[in-house]
Parts: sequence; structure tokens; C-alpha cells
Amino acid sequence: MNYSDKKEYCGLFGVYGRPDAAHLCYQGLYSLQHRGQESAGIAAADGQTIRTHTGMGLVGEVFDQGSLGQLAGNMAIGHVRYSTTGSSGLRNAQPLTVEYSRGPVSVAHNGNLINAQLLRDEYEAYGHIFQTTSDTEVIVALMAKPSHIAKGDPLGHVLNHIQGAYCLLFLYPDRIEAARDPYGIRPLAIGRLADGSYCVASETCALTIVEAEYIREVAPGEIVTLDASGLHSRFFVKPGTVTPAHCSFEHVYFADPSSSVFDENVHHVRKRLGMRLGEESPVDADVVVAIPDSGRSAAMGYSAASGVPLERGFVRNHYIGRTFIQPTEKGRSDAVKMKLTVIRESVDGKRVVVVDDSIVRGTTTRGKIQALRSAGAREIHMRVSCPPLRHPCFYGIDFPTQEELIAHGRTVEEISRFLGVDSLAYLSLEGMLACFKGDPAHYCHACWSGTYRIPVTYTVSKFSLERHQMQMF
Ligand code: 5GP
Ligand code: SF4
Ligand code: MG
Repeated sequence: MNYSDKKEYCGLFGVYGRPDAAHLCYQGLYSLQHRGQESAGIAAADGQTIRTHTGMGLVGEVFDQGSLGQLAGNMAIGHVRYSTTGSSGLRNAQPLTVEYSRGPVSVAHNGNLINAQLLRDEYEAYGHIFQTTSDTEVIVALMAKPSHIAKGDPLGHVLNHIQGAYCLLFLYPDRIEAARDPYGIRPLAIGRLADGSYCVASETCALTIVEAEYIREVAPGEIVTLDASGLHSRFFVKPGTVTPAHCSFEHVYFADPSSSVFDENVHHVRKRLGMRLGEESPVDADVVVAIPDSGRSAAMGYSAASGVPLERGFVRNHYIGRTFIQPTEKGRSDAVKMKLTVIRESVDGKRVVVVDDSIVRGTTTRGKIQALRSAGAREIHMRVSCPPLRHPCFYGIDFPTQEELIAHGRTVEEISRFLGVDSLAYLSLEGMLACFKGDPAHYCHACWSGTYRIPVTYTVSKFSLERHQMQMF
């Protein structure tokens, strides 16, 4: 297990009409690595055949010249995964390629289906055999159902059967289809390359890497087709009939600062969150320091709003990746220590404001606070650029269990004592939503507020699809 056991989820990339499609996918996935490090995969099509390569680990570990070279064809989709539904393992690595009555299809999925278990039970009752434990296979099973194939738009019909958060890429031998759930929970962007070919990506940072121009997002409830005649759009849910619920946590923590998600740049949103935090919760202090990397943008904003100078308090070791595996608790805390080193001269004898984007379990934050104390910080005031995380996410973000969330069932005062800080303040929910460009009613904030915009009728535990024991190596 990684020393940091909080999990990201998935990243998608697809490109149509390029002889180097698999290679562009590889580059795109590399830049989306922050969205998932468990497994990676690419499927490419040449008009007839779909070839797929998947593996456990980072993009750079899964692919080499040989495997990329075999992914022939001018269209490809790719996926980086952290398991949300379905435990990690090679058989759950994506894209998932299957052959059904209409031919081969490959699917890559970012998000979480809420009714996957129910649908799967229904299919198993009719004798269907599932190869994986991920909910993505349920989508494929739905697509293969003859009565669904008989519909004018089988995919649109199927998407109306599934509930939850999803961005999906489908690769057929001759085209790519990209779909986004009616609430627009996860981001999905469309880009155009210099030669006019199109690509799609979870975040615009992947478009930048392949030198594609950002065109727009796939709209909530839209299916975009990329084929030999260009880009085509259709809707499986009438636009404007569902109020969007964009995931606020994308802006707060998940997305890359260079990306634009939900049509605005992530770094600048985070800076505004920090400014607002500075206005809501000022404190007399000598320096503001960020917890790198995720706290950097907010710390800049906090400093700008409060007038307290920004100082570099920590240096991050960029080489302590997944290789630093420590099975014991002591080993894990050593790893946290190794990841960030305090610059004593920045904090010794000073009143320090520490800014971070979020606190989940609180354990790594506590370690960093102790390190600041040992380096001589006279006062430590922690400021967090989102409200206390108190509720689970059913839409694809793999938080620890509710009981493990440090803010669950605890007051700010109690958390402050646990962390060992002189003061602690979180950004208010209204303050956070005010920093986004869109209508505050168009964002999901369930993990802070407990208000679930998509009814969570069937809660799927990560392992609830794992009934049979099967192993693949
Ligand atoms: P904690 O003190 O809760 O152990 O760690 C807080 C840190 O975890 C923050 O710096 C925050 O950026 C980071 N964080 C928040 N959510 C996630 C997540 O889902 N995955 C990972 N790896 N880190 C997270
Ligand atoms: Fe995002 Fe939180 Fe909503 Fe999950 S519950 S989709 S993490 S805002
Ligand atoms: Mg962080």
C-alpha cells in the first residue's frame, strides 16, 4: 500500500483521427496521473480491430515502446484508475474491452454508479456472468441487451438506466463516443488539435500536453461522437431539465492547478478560496506557509488578502513516490516526514499561519504541525480552504469511512486539539461556493453539507460487487 492511503479516482483521455493516437493517449494519461495511480490502460482501433493493453501501476510503468507500438490505429481511448467500486486488481483495469452482438467495444469510466449492484443482481438472476467486479461491466451488459440494441439510440437508452456520477468513453472500431452524466458531476473537456482532429480529456491539462486547443466541455447529459466526419452531438437528457451538481472537490483538491474544470482555471479558484479564507478568518501572524503542493494556491490567496507575507515553509521531496512502501504505521509516518522537510529559518520563533486545501483523516496534517513545532514555530494557526469534511461521497471519490474523517462527530475545537494547533479555522460553505464562477446551486457539496443532490438509494460499498473469489496475475 502507498504510504498515503487516501485515494484519487480516474482520468480519461481519447483521441480520434491521428496515426499516433495511442502515443497521444499515453501523453494525455501521463498528465492525468494525479487522478489515479493504481492501473493504466489504452485501447486503440484501426477501423476493424480493437487492441487493448492494461497494467497495474503508473502510466510510465505500464507502457513501453513495445506495448505502445502494438496499439495500432488512428483512434484510441485511455484510462488511469484508482478503484472506487471494485477492488484494485488487473481484471478491473480499464479500458474494458468486450465483444458483443454488435462487435467489439471498449469502455473507460470515471465516476461511480449508485445502482450498479441492483442492475447486476438483475442480470445475474438471468444467468449473466460478470468477469470483473467493477460497475463499468454493468454498463456493457446493459448495452448488449437485445431490447436495448433495438432502440433508436441504444447508448442513450442505457445511460438513462444508470444512476450516479460518470464520464464515459466508448471506443468502437470506427468511432469514439464520450458521455457525461446529466448532473455534470465529473469534468470532461473537448479539444482540437492543430490538424483539426478532436480529443477528449477529464481535464484540460491533458489537452495542453498534446497541444490541443480547449473547445468546450461535454455538456451534462450529452453524448459526443468523434468519427471520420468530425464531431457530432446528441442529448440523452434534455438540456436544462436537470440542475447541475459539479463536484466542488475537483476545484478544492482533485484537479490539476493548470486545468480548467467546469469552465474555470483551478489555480485561480483556489487562490480565491484562500483570499476568502483570509477575509473570513484573519489572525495576527508573521508568515503564511503552504502545505505543498495542494495548499500552495490557497496560501497565496490568504497572504494577498491578509497582508501577511507568504514564506516557503516546507520543501517537498519529489522522489518519494510509490516506491517508498512501508507496511507499518511507523513506516508510514516516516514516509510523511520524508515527503516534506521544514525550512527552520522560515518559521523559528515566528507566528505561523499554515494553509492547506483540506483535512481528511487529520493524521498527516498532525505530523506536519509537529514538524513545525520542532522547528521552533512560536504560534501555529491552521487555515483550511474548504469546510470540515464530515460525510461520505457516493459519487466516485474514495474518502475513508465516515468514522475515519477527523471532522465527523467532532467540533472545530476538538479537531484543533487533535492537530495541536493554537487556532484552527475552515472556510465557510457559503464562502467556498461564492468563489466559484457558476451559480452556487449548480455544485455538489454533499461531503461537507450532507445534502446529496442525487438520491443515494442504493449505497454501493467498494467491495459489495465482490462475492466470488478470483485472482488474476
Ligand atoms: P490528512 O491530515 O487528512 O491526513 O491529510 C490532509 C492532506 O491530504 C491535505 O494536504 C490534502 O491535500 C490531502 N488530501 C485530501 N484529499 C485527498 C485524497 O483524496 N487523496 C490524497 N492522496 N490526499 C488527499
Ligand atoms: Fe465531490 Fe464531495 Fe460531491 Fe463527492 S460528495 S461529488 S467529493 S462534492
Ligand atoms: Mg495536500
